[in-house]
Amino acid sequence: MPQFDAKKQTVTLNDGNVMPVYGLGTYSLTGSTVKEAVSSALKQGYRLIDTAYMYHNEKEIGEAIRESGLPREEIFLTTKIYPSQFNDPESAIEAALDELDIDYIDMMLLHHPGDDDVKAYQAMEKYQKAGKIKSIGLSNYYIDELKAFLPQVETMPALVQNEIHPYYQDSQATTYIQSLGIVVEAWYPLGGRGYQEELLSDPVLEKIAEKYDKSVAQIILRWEQQRQIITIPGSSNPEHQAENQAIFDFQLTEEEMQEINQLNRDEKHDWY
Ligand code: NAD
Repeated sequence: MPQFDAKKQTVTLNDGNVMPVYGLGTYSLTGSTVKEAVSSALKQGYRLIDTAYMYHNEKEIGEAIRESGLPREEIFLTTKIYPSQFNDPESAIEAALDELDIDYIDMMLLHHPGDDDVKAYQAMEKYQKAGKIKSIGLSNYYIDELKAFLPQVETMPALVQNEIHPYYQDSQATTYIQSLGIVVEAWYPLGGRGYQEELLSDPVLEKIAEKYDKSVAQIILRWEQQRQIITIPGSSNPEHQAENQAIFDFQLTEEEMQEINQLNRDEKHDWY
């Protein structure tokens, strides 16, 4: 089972690799914006960066990582290959390695279920054995998808990245995935772009935020962390980046956790 280290803010995955429990998401950030966002996050102490082939920003993220001057092994880079690439997964993996140009990939995920996903996963297993990918996992696999997929592959995924925020908590899937020894990571941890206004002014969250002198975003991220869910909020704003990592100096009570659990509306903010 994964071992969380609260002091180091890391988790040891089921494959023995260690990853940070919070990081920076980079969906919709491209060009110089993403490069500056990643540089700023690394300067502030972020060590986990999340990207994907589909975000069209791997090249700039690789540059920011190389130019940071940080030892490669201190950084944990996640990328994903897309279903349109599953029929030729080795080329997709090679392309990611080329674009990033940081020697190896710490975590590679299948971005979505799709035709040939088993074949694509087996290619990731091969690159994992060769040391070019350290850990492998899935994204947008919920209970039904996992029950169909897992019996077909050899290596248990180290991580599953799914939509999770107070209005879409998907607790059943999270509990199921965690019971398999797989770490869960939240995408749209703050509800996703376009949904901040309502979520970040939710009265229940505002009341809790006031008590701890924290922002609503910090309360949400803390709630996710206390459920042992990795958080990768997206932001190119250095102030928001600082805020999103200042979530380890307070603890929500069991009652507050329950209050937030009650906010669930099963309201998905994207189609997958
Ligand atoms: P998010 O929920 O992290 O919200 C990002 C929005 O919140 C941005 O508009 C940002 O400006 C704002 N924000 C960030 N910090 C804030 C703060 N402290 N206060 C107020 N506003 C703040 O949405 P996201 O970035 O789309 O999702 C997070 C990451 O998850 C993505 O960047 C991406 O890496 C990943 N993701 C994966 C999938 C998938 O299919 N696997 C899908 C979507 C996103």
